[in-house]
Amino acid sequence: MRILLIEDELKVSEFIRRGLTEEGYQVVVAADGEEGAFEAGEGEFDVVILDVMLPKKDGFAVLAELRGSGNTVPVIMLTALGEVDDRVRGLEAGADDYLPKPFSFDELLARIQALMRRSQSIQATAPLTIADLTLDPVSRQVSRAGQEIKLTAKEYGLLLHFMQNPGKVLSRARLTEHVWGGTEESFTNVVDVYVNYLRKKVDKGFDPPLIHTVRGAGYVLRLPE
Ligand code: CA
Repeated sequence: MRILLIEDELKVSEFIRRGLTEEGYQVVVAADGEEGAFEAGEGEFDVVILDVMLPKKDGFAVLAELRGSGNTVPVIMLTALGEVDDRVRGLEAGADDYLPKPFSFDELLARIQALMRRSQSIQATAPLTIADLTLDPVSRQVSRAGQEIKLTAKEYGLLLHFMQNPGKVLSRARLTEHVWGGTEESFTNVVDVYVNYLRKKVDKGFDPPLIHTVRGAGYVLRLPE
């Protein structure tokens, strides 16, 4: 479980980082809004903890940028005590929860766990769709233009990861890690082989092609530009 913490006050970020690390989370800390927005766009996080008052770009601007780019990562905003306006603004801007400062670590942990449960149950049940391609995580059925597509377990795992990250360039290393659970170099050829299998089933005979090669970077699932 990876958490991005965007907080400029070192004392607060250290306190949160240490606590979450002890709980077994991987924590990436960004100390200002610009760095935070960059990290959120680059990495894959299960939850983002976002302070409102930040240098360079405030929490609302970071959140607007995230949601504007289609990123649906659960966000908890840290607001100043009693600032109802901030809370309302945050929730309206697409935050999933807010926590007024000061807060106890246990309170923050409970909120994170609740958000993760919520987003996992949504992720696990809602069908994923891009163009006329649909994947149903419950029945594990995949279809394109109404035709059922039979996939092997690895092909399914690969397509699921693509469909959970539409429009995002996924490196071979990352696909290896997610689908095969390893990071060894020897796996990266396997990714190419399996992406080809997947293309034959998902793209061949259909229009437009959805799986694209990004030279030197990896693969992306998206509509052609
Ligand atoms: Ca702050």
